[in-house]
Amino acid sequence: MGIYSDLGVPPVINAATTFTALGGSLMPDEVLDAMRDAAGSFIDMHQLHLAAGRRIAELTRNEAAYVTSGCAAALVLVLLGIRTKGDPSVLRDFPGREHAPSEVIMHAAHRIPYDAAIALSGVTVRQIGNIQQTFEWELEAAITKETAAVLYVAGPHLPQVALPLPEVVRIAKSRGVPVIVDAAAQLPPVENLWHFTRDLGADIAVFSGGKALRGPQASGLMVGNPDIIEAARQNGAPFQRWARAMKAGKEEIAGLVAAVERFVNLDHAALHEEWQATVDAWALALADLPGAILQPELLNEAGQPVPRLYVGIPDSSRASRVLAALDGAAPRIAVHPDKRNGSAYGFWIGPDLLQDGEAAIVEEKVREAVRGSRD
Ligand SMILES: *Cc1c(COP(=O)(O)O)cnc(C)c1O
Repeated sequence: MGIYSDLGVPPVINAATTFTALGGSLMPDEVLDAMRDAAGSFIDMHQLHLAAGRRIAELTRNEAAYVTSGCAAALVLVLLGIRTKGDPSVLRDFPGREHAPSEVIMHAAHRIPYDAAIALSGVTVRQIGNIQQTFEWELEAAITKETAAVLYVAGPHLPQVALPLPEVVRIAKSRGVPVIVDAAAQLPPVENLWHFTRDLGADIAVFSGGKALRGPQASGLMVGNPDIIEAARQNGAPFQRWARAMKAGKEEIAGLVAAVERFVNLDHAALHEEWQATVDAWALALADLPGAILQPELLNEAGQPVPRLYVGIPDSSRASRVLAALDGAAPRIAVHPDKRNGSAYGFWIGPDLLQDGEAAIVEEKVREAVRGSRD
């Protein structure tokens, strides 16, 4: 029964993280109800976008907000908005480098695999700093008339060698350049929904709707400066402009409003306690597993306060066999592998995406996989 078994696609237990390749996250009832409700009638999409933006802005203590079809889409849209200032005639051709500013400044420490989103807005990257350090003069010197924005990727999981965000904001502001924060996976804590924009002065922050917010997979969120947000909106559907292809439907918009409302009202402390209890129980139950070294950790792969358990397997060929066994288990147990220089050293299991009863299955399958991996 169910669409996945109809299609012959086996389900996966996600003890890894909000990987898009696994379907991101699961929508709670509040979100599904809002999507079903939205799917039941026609509306004016411009009005819906504006009203949803106002509601989300209020919920997230920002001046303005806009729903996109993902955080990557939000990056494309915000860059198009900044380049065109909302006037569709500015970018007559594409990439239009002769008409509109066409560079973003990024720290070397922030080069993550989302460059395609930047390129899709017709923009190239001017990199500052290196993997060990960045100097203020490098940012100063990189700002030219071609600069559209500084794109800052937030997260304690990145090498901490970028200039601090408040420094970037100070320098960029003094030169009239907006700062965009890619905070796709920086939730929880809930405060991050307003921290980058309201507290630290970034012009715009963008988030995934389909990660910890548990909104629709194809949703994303842009918050911050109302002029930039309106300019971004002018490039998206239902306008038939450069980002028309990245349409957020009425269902995604309604679902994300419900998801944000749920997320800001969640008892995050209670949720954290539940997660911690699962990790503690795993650590206790698996403590006697020969060949594995357990290490409970306080932060997830994106540096967020979501506890997880590291299962280290010092023998790398054995670690590969364990990972293959979890992959081949029925049901498949998706974990976050620890692979360095092409070799496996273990994996992390996390509690936050598991459904009722799945923590016990994860424990059992991990035990089986490690036991079965002896030469
Ligand atoms: C996940 C992620 C994205 C893309 O988000 P989508 O909502 O899947 O489009 C962009 N940037 C970072 C840092 C991410 O983690």
